[in-house]
Amino acid sequence: MGNCSKPPRVVLLGKQGAGKGTQAARLADHYGTVHLSTGDLFRAQAAQGTAFGLEAKRYMDSGDLVPDEIVMGVIEECLAPGGPLDDGFVLDGFPRTVPQAIDLDRVLGARPLDLVIDLEVPKEIVLDRIAGRRVCENCQTVYHVNMPPSHNWTCDKCGGNVRQRDDDTEEAVERRLELYERETVPIIDYYREQGLVIMVDGFGNGDEVFERLVKVIDDRMQA
Ligand SMILES: [Zn+2]
Repeated sequence: MGNCSKPPRVVLLGKQGAGKGTQAARLADHYGTVHLSTGDLFRAQAAQGTAFGLEAKRYMDSGDLVPDEIVMGVIEECLAPGGPLDDGFVLDGFPRTVPQAIDLDRVLGARPLDLVIDLEVPKEIVLDRIAGRRVCENCQTVYHVNMPPSHNWTCDKCGGNVRQRDDDTEEAVERRLELYERETVPIIDYYREQGLVIMVDGFGNGDEVFERLVKVIDDRMQA
């Protein structure tokens, strides 16, 4: 368990299909901190009526990408005393670029990140997980070619058609993984120079991976 006196400030990086979202939520729960996507943060701040929150919501409502300076404005508001990120966090899906990482450091100021975890899962595993995925068109229940529904690709729950999503094909997944590498390698390099990066093996069942993550966080917080 560890005896962390203060909640950790963690950035979790990892490929799609590495189980990052699930692990980030479990970690936040374990440490009593917050796991929020940037979308959640935008909505929370907009609901509070903060300046950057409302601005971000305007972009989201019109389907536009929220510009970097507004993303950072929201993050800064969230880090303020009493804000949703004040008491530690597990960031998942942010920062996406080196300029965002630099900005995040600036905004964190005297309370910097504790660590950046690179959740590493071999590409073949991710490809198999995603390209092997089959989803019920009707109720969205997820199956896998190795664990199909019992009758001829008919959903066990609702009888709907179970098929592969267009963006789950091997080519589509390969493309997303390449994009991820291009975007993320520079971020990892940036944090590595600060001695913040710890690579964690994301292969194995969810509980095993979770234990590995907790161990590296506890070790870092006690150091
Ligand atoms: Zn179904």
